[in-house]
Parts: sequence; C-alpha cells; structure tokens
Amino acid sequence: MNILIINSGSSSIKYQLIEMPSTKVICVGSIERIGSSDAISTYRTDTNKVEKIYEIASHKKGLEKITSLLLDVNIGVLNSTDDIDAIGHRVVHGGSNFTKTTLINDEVKNKIKFLSSLAPLHNPANLEGILMAEEIFDSAKQIAVFDTAFHGTVPVKAKKYAIPNELYNEKGIQAYGFHGTSHKYVSEKANAYLQKKSTNLISVHLGNGCSITAIKDGKSIDHSMGFTPANGLIMGTRSGDIDHSVIFYLVNTLGYNLNEVNELLNKKSGMLGLTGFNDLRDIEREATKGNTNCILALEMNAYRIKKFIGSYTAAMNGLDAIIFTAGIGENSSFMRQLVCKDMEYFNIHLDDSKNDLRASNLREINTKDSAVKILVIPTNEELEIANQVYELLA
Ligand code: ADP
Repeated sequence: MNILIINSGSSSIKYQLIEMPSTKVICVGSIERIGSSDAISTYRTDTNKVEKIYEIASHKKGLEKITSLLLDVNIGVLNSTDDIDAIGHRVVHGGSNFTKTTLINDEVKNKIKFLSSLAPLHNPANLEGILMAEEIFDSAKQIAVFDTAFHGTVPVKAKKYAIPNELYNEKGIQAYGFHGTSHKYVSEKANAYLQKKSTNLISVHLGNGCSITAIKDGKSIDHSMGFTPANGLIMGTRSGDIDHSVIFYLVNTLGYNLNEVNELLNKKSGMLGLTGFNDLRDIEREATKGNTNCILALEMNAYRIKKFIGSYTAAMNGLDAIIFTAGIGENSSFMRQLVCKDMEYFNIHLDDSKNDLRASNLREINTKDSAVKILVIPTNEELEIANQVYELLA
C-alpha cells in the first residue's frame, strides 16, 4: 500500500511517501514559504535530491508542484496519481470529536472547519491540504490523523479548567493536548524497550513547539499544552504558561490590542523573546561565549521541564522512564543535562558520557544505578501516521 503523508502548515507542505507494511520511505519532501515568489521545494528519493526555488502562490499550487515531482519521468516515483492508495493528513485539532484516526467524509471536513477557531494557525491549512488532495488524488482514501487524539484518555480532573461548568459542557473549553502522534510513537517504542507490564512514562517533546506528557500504561493522562498549543513549556517563540492577568495588563495598561498580544505571546516570546534567537543551536553557542540572556533562558527552559517532571511523577505515583525526543530532545545533550541534574531525590541519574554520544536510534543515557531510565528516542510522526492509516485500512 502506497501511503502519502501530508502535513500542511500555514505556509508549508511537508510530505512523505511510505510503502506499507514494509515502512519503506520512497520519497520525502517539503515546500516552504508558500504564498511567496521564492518558495523552497525540496524533494529526495533514494537516488535523487532536488532543491529548487519557485513562485508558489497557494497550497493548491504547492500540491500540484509536489504531484508533478512525484510523476516526473526522470526523478518521479509514480506512474499515475492512482498509484497512491491512501493519504494520511496530519490534522492538529480534533477537539473532543476525534479521538481516533478517521476516514474523511463531508461531516469530518465540516468538523475540522468548525474547529478552526481553536487552532487558527493550523486547522485551516490542514483542511486546505485535504481539499486539494481530494481533487488531485481522487482515487485515494483520505484519512485524518489528529494531534489531539492520543490525549483523549486524559481524565476530566486533568483536562478541565476551573471556570464555570457551562464553558466546558457547552463550549468545549478544556485542555486538549497536542503532539499526540509523537508522544504515542515514542512511548510505544519505550514500552517495547522496557518490557514491563505496567509503566509510568514522561515524554518530553522539544522541537520548535515543546510539550510534555504523562503516560500511564500506554495512555496519556496529563499533558502540558492546553486549549491550544500555546500552554506549558517555554518554546521557540511561544511563552508557554503565563498568568492570564499579564494579558489584561498588556491591553488595559500598556495599550496593546488583542492581535498584538496574540502575536507577542505566540511569535515573539519563548526563547526568541528571551535571547533574540529561536534556534537552540544559536542559543547554546552564545551561552558558551558567556551571553547571560542565553544562559538564563536555557536555565529557565530546563527549570520548567523539571517542574513538570516532578508534578507528573506525583500524578502517576511513580516514574519508570523519561523520554527525550524531537529536534532539541534528540540532539541537545546540554539541555538534557540541565533537565536531569540535581534530580537525585527522584533517583534520576544521567550518565554524562552516554549523554554526549550521538546516535540516531533509541538509546539509554542513565547510569546503571538510576532507578529511572532516561531514554533518547527519535520521533517519527510520518511513520506513525502511516502505521495508523495502514491499520485503519488493512
Ligand atoms: P518542529 O517542531 O518544527 O518539528 P524540530 O523537532 O525539527 O521542530 O526541532 C527544531 C529545533 O531543534 C530547532 O529549533 C533547533 O533549535 C533544535 N535542534 C536541532 N538540532 C539541534 C542540535 N544539534 N543541538 C541543539 N538543538 C538542535
């Protein structure tokens, strides 16, 4: 079965063609800066790697470009669009409607559209990707895999906010949780590795977006992001947790309007707001040169992760393993070290030499006498989506 995975963002489309059940990746690519005259297209197969700049005005034009690459007589991998059996769409917000991978029909599209107000940066682009894919790959089954789905098991006491009940019951205001595809994928890998009947895991996903999930016996029971992907940890450009009174102060006293506050908290805050950089590699480099803003930002970031580890250990009444994943979690030994130091009380002991080793597969980086395992597990959201689509259709 040829499954095309589409991750359609506000100005980008990332895609992978995966053959199932072999899990062979036939091609990987992306188009970034959609809507500009210098959109960047990358396309890679076993034998070809092409990077080009095009004018790509819309997602439709982007998907047409991707289709022409897939069908290209020289570098393509398909003879016809009919060679695609199914398309797995990453959809960020499934609200409380979708806790499972779902075959897309008109009703599903309407609900994704309805949920756009909860994820204005993501759901409209996800829906656009679905509509375009239906047009171009008209014989393929279209399937939605929701970032929120894995968190459908979070109990009410953890997902409900302490605001009047009708806002939860009638308006759907609650914590939903995100990065579910990644947390599910790495926690299943961890459980296969640990070979224990019952497990308490904490999965720390640190990329541009950052989130942390408590996973008991394979089920998400609490998560740091909330109603939208803005809550919780300090991220590349998002503040994470903040007292909501700051918003009123910004508006009522400092004269910001709501769009400016939104822009400030989502795009100008986090590591960018603290340091002027949002790529952790730049921040680490500057910190080693003595940049005090960068040093403090790294400490703040790690401190908040530590606090979540403490609270989730309490929530689960135990901890078997911490999983680090995504760009920062997999690559930054410095951030892992900051998070894991001074955690003897929890019996968490990092082995510094193992932490510094680089590898691209699952690895254990705790000392032998650490009661809690510390695992680095590369995430693979595309493969997880392909697995879920295959499971649904096979
Ligand atoms: P996204 O959330 O967009 O999927 P990624 O998971 O790819 O993001 O993570 C991107 C982040 O990973 C970048 O901001 C960068 O700071 C960080 N990163 C990537 N490689 C390294 C590295 N070797 N050392 C430190 N940070 C890294």
